[in-house]
Amino acid sequence: MDGSRTPETPPVLILLGPPGAGKGTQARMLEEQFGLVQLSTGDLLRAAVASGSEAGKAAKAVMEAGDLVSDDIVIAILRDRLAAPDCAKGVILDGFPRTTAQAEALDAMLGETGQNVNSTILLEVDDVKMVVRIAGRFTCGACGEGYHDDFKKPKVADTCDCCGARQMTRRADDNAKTVMSRLDAYHEQTAPLIAYYDAKGVLRRVDAMREIATIKDAIGALTQSVMA
Ligand code: AMP
Repeated sequence: MDGSRTPETPPVLILLGPPGAGKGTQARMLEEQFGLVQLSTGDLLRAAVASGSEAGKAAKAVMEAGDLVSDDIVIAILRDRLAAPDCAKGVILDGFPRTTAQAEALDAMLGETGQNVNSTILLEVDDVKMVVRIAGRFTCGACGEGYHDDFKKPKVADTCDCCGARQMTRRADDNAKTVMSRLDAYHEQTAPLIAYYDAKGVLRRVDAMREIATIKDAIGALTQSVMA
């Protein structure tokens, strides 16, 4: 497999990188620019926790500790979401896969519909700086737009630039202690996916320590080559 696709099959992109690398921010921009659908397993799990579903109850404490939720739960949630009609436009996976078992399950799922992973974009960052970056981030509770105390402030304090709501929220797991556990989980369980996708010839690297707009351009160019 080399990531090539026929025009009939919806594109599948993965954004890979440690917590705080900017996967969510960039995925939202790709969604807007290319009409792809962002699939964030973190968002899907937070919704499951908020709804009080069985999966959400099982995931809550694990997420608060900064560990990875079990493969079975995450794969089932992703499989359901991937089957929704809007995913026929093509998807950007943000935060999935995070283990080799998830990557293999994804290959099997996509294989059922003749798809494959067309590009895995690795956002390369400096770990230590990630802790600072994560500690400053917050999100509009109404539309999901992401902000940062230093790098991306809303134009009017506490007010979303996109939808005007005044409902900024900070994630419970965005604290220094949990962030360290999340970084450990990334290095132990997710980083092996770099070699996994490199071996398939679909890994692309982007320096994600630069300005958000510069990173967006780099990722946009890589995405364009998959869309063509
Ligand atoms: P994120 O929003 O991607 O930073 O994810 C937040 C938390 O959700 C993670 O720290 C994990 O506890 C859990 N999570 C999200 N995606 C996955 C996944 N693919 N596999 C296991 N756990 C996940």
